[in-house]
Amino acid sequence: MEFRAEVTTRVIHDPRRGFETTASVMETRWDPLTGQTARLLRDVERLLPAAGFDVAELAAQTRPGCPFCPDRIEAATPRFVGAGFGDGRIRVGRAVLFPNLLPYAAYSSVCVYAPARHHLPLAEMTPVLAADNLRAQVAFVRAAHRENPVAAAWASINGNHLLPAGSSVFHPHTQGGCHPVPTNTQAQLVSVPADRAEEYLTLERRGGQRYIATTGQIDWVAAFAPTGPGEIRGFIHGVGGLAELGDGVVVELAAGITHTMHTYAELGISSCNLAIYGAPPQAAGCRLLARLVCRSPLAPFYRSDVTYLERLHAEAATDISPEDLAARARQHFAAGPGCRTG
Ligand SMILES: [Zn+2]
Repeated sequence: MEFRAEVTTRVIHDPRRGFETTASVMETRWDPLTGQTARLLRDVERLLPAAGFDVAELAAQTRPGCPFCPDRIEAATPRFVGAGFGDGRIRVGRAVLFPNLLPYAAYSSVCVYAPARHHLPLAEMTPVLAADNLRAQVAFVRAAHRENPVAAAWASINGNHLLPAGSSVFHPHTQGGCHPVPTNTQAQLVSVPADRAEEYLTLERRGGQRYIATTGQIDWVAAFAPTGPGEIRGFIHGVGGLAELGDGVVVELAAGITHTMHTYAELGISSCNLAIYGAPPQAAGCRLLARLVCRSPLAPFYRSDVTYLERLHAEAATDISPEDLAARARQHFAAGPGCRTG
């Protein structure tokens, strides 16, 4: 296995310097797991600058009428039909889970971190909020599998944190999906041999540049060839699928997600996506992977981080160096309980 990278230098007459010739450097990197390429831009003005936008003000504007806030959630959110879902909603701690109004999958859930947290900036995510949310999503996946193991075969837990990440409701929440057909990335990941994932992790651990920490059963690394800005991956060992996630691993996942969100907040990022990819028990390959990426900070008329490259070429272009990201994230993981960063 190699961590393949090719550096390209490009020269222009630069209007920012009176049309002197200036050279800029970019790097093409190949993901050792999937072969997918990414483009790293070096020494450029920040592609995702921290926005001066007052997110708290938008939170205040969107609070009246929000269907996930405490005085509306009971009346405004749907309930599951099957007997396996209790009274039609799943509650764990402050988390409340219910069906998604939009049928993105055969089983499609929304889980609010806490009805009282209409405004939940990434910097204020806590391991408890994240863990209770994940516990509710795991209970949802188990209920779906019990009801119809075929229709619910391919499970995932996902997040669109704020509008730039794709959320239509301001109030932070996660989304679960169980479907008979894998998404493109779920299919891609199960085609990656398990030993390739092991070798990748062994090399990252040994190299240390992008390795962030282990929380015990999960290894956290900054992606060498990220699929989006600031991609952090958590490789979950010894678990077959999302329905089998024990509480100890859920707590680890919650800790890693929280540390990653705090790292993003430090970079001035307010919005991110999350996916935890599950696969049916009989699937081989790299099955359980958690992945987070930064999205453009929330602001009016923001520049989307998703351009023709990401949307139509499946190729990310980013100026967030995976090695710098790992160094930052290591500080946050080191401050958390139960992490070994060396
Ligand atoms: Zn709300």
